[in-house]
Amino acid sequence: MSRVVANEKTVLMEQEFLPFTTPTIGEDVLNEVRACLTSGWIATGPRVQQFEQDVKAYTKASNAIAVNSATSGLHLALVACGVQPGDEVITTPLTFVSTVNVIEHAGGRPVFVDIEPGTYNIDAEKIRQAITPRTKVIMPVHFAGLPVDLDPIYELARAHGIRVIEDAAHAIGASYKGRSIGSFGDIQVFSFHPCKNMTTGEGGVLTVQDDAMAARMRTLRFHGIDRDSWNRYGKNGSQTFDVIEAGFKYNMSDLQAAIGIPQLKQLDVMNQSRLRLVKRYQEALAGWQQVSLPQSPDYEYFHPWHIFTILITDDSPLNRDGFMEALKQKNIGTGLHYPVIHLYTYYRNKYGYRPGDFPIAENVASRIVSLPLFAHMTEAQQNRVLDAMTKVLNQ
Ligand SMILES: *Cc1c(COP(=O)(O)O)cnc(C)c1O
Repeated sequence: MSRVVANEKTVLMEQEFLPFTTPTIGEDVLNEVRACLTSGWIATGPRVQQFEQDVKAYTKASNAIAVNSATSGLHLALVACGVQPGDEVITTPLTFVSTVNVIEHAGGRPVFVDIEPGTYNIDAEKIRQAITPRTKVIMPVHFAGLPVDLDPIYELARAHGIRVIEDAAHAIGASYKGRSIGSFGDIQVFSFHPCKNMTTGEGGVLTVQDDAMAARMRTLRFHGIDRDSWNRYGKNGSQTFDVIEAGFKYNMSDLQAAIGIPQLKQLDVMNQSRLRLVKRYQEALAGWQQVSLPQSPDYEYFHPWHIFTILITDDSPLNRDGFMEALKQKNIGTGLHYPVIHLYTYYRNKYGYRPGDFPIAENVASRIVSLPLFAHMTEAQQNRVLDAMTKVLNQ
């Protein structure tokens, strides 16, 4: 197994503030970005095409469509699924807010169902109870990268003529029952925001099995124009084009793809590095009464560990917010993934949600905290986290 090597300027000094995540940028990325910048082509062009081919091969998808963020990708997916005002989209309350904001953008109505207490993933049984004649899409989130139990969800979707859009923002490299996320099902949306397992600066990709839907997404991604700008401005391109829908400006640039091409080549090595660090956390924290760890589902999966979360239990001398503050005092960053969506002001005001509506998600959201984890994190840095935790939790 080769070692994860970050550019030396990104390697943190011993006592510096340790962020909960930071991207792993190697010389390969710097070289490809320089090559792109000096090539004369920065906008959507040959590097995006290459990146899409690479993602397609990596995930074993039928189609890969690069976009400027996963948020754009999720919105595009909802539009391509025909979500109209009044249509219901079932999703989880424990996610990043963009999962749900895009339902609003498409004119849909978010319908939350509660999560499983051990995996923090959406509960398929509760989805069954939430389906109505207006349900158009189910949008599960592979929380932290742990694949949702997809078989029962697709079974429900097929039985009711509903589409599934998997928010796979955390899940590049994940697999479910031996099949890679992106290689089956309807639509998956991956994020390459700098905090994710690999980055393109900002960016995302859709994987889509249906060729006709993929073709429509390509058009919608760039103003509804029926061919992309590289074809237009290239030697063999034509300056005339038609607009067949009022599309969006959601295309990825070659500059972003120049980051993504070498990042994808390093992804498995980076994910293995995360996995090794997670195993060290799990071993070190096993048996602590003050924290509880996420549980494994009983199906086969590969979990790329976008984040490593713990729950602060009632046996802890500090609550979650106190724990985060105490670690910050010790120069260690943590992350909060996530406050529940239904209790944000906008969603409370619009839909009348109240505390207690989704009790499992609310309980998890009040206790959850993400510990530092990134591909080039050293064991010495991880030991700093564990030492600080030992002190602040009086372990
Ligand atoms: C990061 C994230 C997104 C949005 O990704 P962007 O690329 O930043 O738009 C969507 N859903 C989840 C669950 C995320 O974590």
